[in-house]
Amino acid sequence: MSEKDSHLVPLYSKDGSMYGVLISPELWDRVSRKVAPILEQALDVMYPALANQKPEPLDDWNLFKDYWDFKYPFTAEVECKICGASTPDWEHDPEKPFHLKSASVSGLCVFHCKACRATVRKKHFKDHICFEATPTQSDVTVGECATLPE
Ligand SMILES: [Zn+2]
Repeated sequence: MSEKDSHLVPLYSKDGSMYGVLISPELWDRVSRKVAPILEQALDVMYPALANQKPEPLDDWNLFKDYWDFKYPFTAEVECKICGASTPDWEHDPEKPFHLKSASVSGLCVFHCKACRATVRKKHFKDHICFEATPTQSDVTVGECATLPE
């Protein structure tokens, strides 16, 4: 095998079936920007249920934190009104029971509950926090909060 061939190596098990492709770090560095989105797209097709699991918008989350001017201390507590899943600290919970979908300086943070797949909304009002959740298969929201002011 030449050095050139060693950058892209199909891997075969003993029975001759392919179980993967090894890409060298040097080659991956050169192609990942182009190839990664193509792989991502193919994976979305293979796993449609997970297709909406975009990377968490952590920049938005940090901006939301930076502009914190509510009348109570910052809290990263999240709870799901549908299945009862909760975390006292979403940022540092190693179990990661919730996936952040969006965070806005207006005070609305939206999460995906990994246990029951509900959409969890955490609404930050001036002097209190309110949680609501909407199950995947329905549009009936549990724990209805008021609408956040713009
Ligand atoms: Zn849940």
